[in-house]
Amino acid sequence: MKLAKGCTLNLETQPLTLQTIKFVLGAISSSNDNVVACDCNRPTKIVRAWTRENPGRRFLSCRGRRVGSDFESCNFFRWYDVEKPHGWQNLALLEAWDTIREQKEEIANLREQVRSVNHVSENLEISSELMESMKQKNEECEALKIEVLILKERSSVLRNVLVASSMGFAVVFGGMMVMSKY
Ligand SMILES: [Zn+2]
Repeated sequence: MKLAKGCTLNLETQPLTLQTIKFVLGAISSSNDNVVACDCNRPTKIVRAWTRENPGRRFLSCRGRRVGSDFESCNFFRWYDVEKPHGWQNLALLEAWDTIREQKEEIANLREQVRSVNHVSENLEISSELMESMKQKNEECEALKIEVLILKERSSVLRNVLVASSMGFAVVFGGMMVMSKY
């Protein structure tokens, strides 16, 4: 196993202790801030290739930079992993990559479904709001009906009063007329 800073570590002869693991991880993480510069004279970034020929093989690439609304980068390319991937490891990596891609698609589909379910429940909320306002309108309508009934009753009472009073007036007037004849 070859590490970035040129130090080598043979895991077959070295017992795999926590210290060994920490050493390996430390070497890997510190290798991320590599000092190789691209054609723009800026520190490069490590990218993993996922081609048939080189699955999982890392290379150095330009970080690029934002210029206004554009993104500019040079075509700098250099393998970071010196050894070519080979044999069954190639196949295993490609299969793992395919699985990851399938799972990503599945997650994206599920997210889409969740979004549409949320949308439906939003609509349900709206319809329950509608039901509420319809119920309110119905209650208002009932109240109006009662008011109309009360008004009807009042007007019939008034009519009766009017009829009674006009009848009374007629009686009184008639009586006066009769009395004036004598
Ligand atoms: Zn560059």
